[in-house]
Amino acid sequence: MEDARSWAAELRGRFEEGLTRAAEWRAAQLRGLLRMATEMEAEMCDALHADLAKPRTEACLHEISLIKSSCLFALKNLKKWMKPQKVQAKLMTFPSAARITAEPLGVVLIISAWNYPLLLSLDPVIGALAAGNAVVLKPSEVAPATSSLLAELLPRFVDGRCVKVVQGGVPETTALLEQKWDKIFYTGNSQVGRIVMTAAAKHLTPVVLELGGKCPLVIDSTVDLHVAAKRIAAGKWGCNNGQACIAPDFIITTSSFAPKLIEELKKVLGKFYGKDPLGSADLSRIVNSNHFNRLKTLMDEEMVFEKIVFGGQMDAYQLKIAPTILLDVPLDSAIMREEIFGPFLPIITVDKINECFGLINSMSKPLAAYLFSRNSKLQDKFERSISAGGMLLNDTSIHLTNPYLPFGGVGESGTGAYHGKFSFDAFSHKKAVLNRGFFGEAKARYPPYSEPKLKIMKGVLEGKLGDMIQAFLGFPRGK
Ligand code: NAD
Repeated sequence: MEDARSWAAELRGRFEEGLTRAAEWRAAQLRGLLRMATEMEAEMCDALHADLAKPRTEACLHEISLIKSSCLFALKNLKKWMKPQKVQAKLMTFPSAARITAEPLGVVLIISAWNYPLLLSLDPVIGALAAGNAVVLKPSEVAPATSSLLAELLPRFVDGRCVKVVQGGVPETTALLEQKWDKIFYTGNSQVGRIVMTAAAKHLTPVVLELGGKCPLVIDSTVDLHVAAKRIAAGKWGCNNGQACIAPDFIITTSSFAPKLIEELKKVLGKFYGKDPLGSADLSRIVNSNHFNRLKTLMDEEMVFEKIVFGGQMDAYQLKIAPTILLDVPLDSAIMREEIFGPFLPIITVDKINECFGLINSMSKPLAAYLFSRNSKLQDKFERSISAGGMLLNDTSIHLTNPYLPFGGVGESGTGAYHGKFSFDAFSHKKAVLNRGFFGEAKARYPPYSEPKLKIMKGVLEGKLGDMIQAFLGFPRGK
């Protein structure tokens, strides 16, 4: 508790000295992070392997390369993002210049999760530093090798006076949450999300909550089945063996198409992971025995185990679970009520594909919703009728690689978003600035009030008069 208080105070002092505001300081931090991701790639891969047996390809492509590309994108755009944005001036304030200035929030707390322990830590840090904040990062204790690597590396590659890594679990996070921050950025489950939001409310601290949920995937018979099966398998088992917030959690398809889909998924999985998936080096393990037992309990439920149509092998010693497909598990079973966050993929069948809407909308709003279909009417309806953090048609997961798209949830899957400029915005305050001279006094504005004055001012404020004069005089309308 004392430590948390003194870290927060120390960083606030640094922030108030103005150290973090300069564009050069921000760019130097981003270059430092880029250098760290480049020079320490091997160490990072080793840590991710120690924590999750994450295959090197996934470690590089799903974490380290994304960190590098976020740094490069921020470096390329930093000056543009920092530049005050001119906006239209109105007659009411004539003459004046109006602009929006992005200012750093101050000292921010970033709490990250274990499944992508590098990316989920450093991607928000990139946004926070680009926006000119001082940062405390609390990586997940569930990925201890990556957490201690971050604690060792960050002070070597970025300004340790303004960026601190605090390792630890619930007591340390609780102590941090008691301090006053200017923003809390939390990634993890929604139960802890509620704890974070409650703690933030005490200080009126704004939050970004990057949460999870059950991401649905709908597939109809119009697809290229071979391509679809590969993309589904890549998004489920090729992303940390299902331990990913945007992994497809369950599939909805028609009962006539399900057998073909299952056959194709089996073929693809055979090619990806061979006859002995538990022995495959290309499949992550389950992070720890708590999560292994949680998953085992989902499978042990009556009426669930017997629905396995593929896979099901588990090795408690190695913490490995094979890709597993289940067909028509009961909708009220725990596996269909809770976020699976592991290698089980239930397929729910319906008579008509349109029944997917009722089913999805009866559940909490997901972080991602997927549709595989060539039917443009179905695509349109999916986009209009399903509320989700993000949506991807005919692929899985890779929407998060586009920095021009915001990444975040809605409802139970989270609040706020980041990636690309959205990260910069998440850690900035957009300050409204209006600059007037002393010319342009409108007598009608001041007492003593009268009906004619009121009429003039109403005309100005309600826009009609203003718009006419503005059009006539050609006032600047901002960019
Ligand atoms: P986790 O166990 O690593 O917890 C996340 C963070 O919360 C950790 O830093 C941990 O120390 C802290 N924490 C845990 N319990 C706490 C408590 N009682 N009080 C204060 N802090 C506490 O990760 P997790 O929650 O198991 O992560 C998995 C969940 O996160 C899933 O629901 C997943 O969908 C979601 N997730 C979301 C995203 C996203 O970007 N939206 C990304 C990854 C994971």
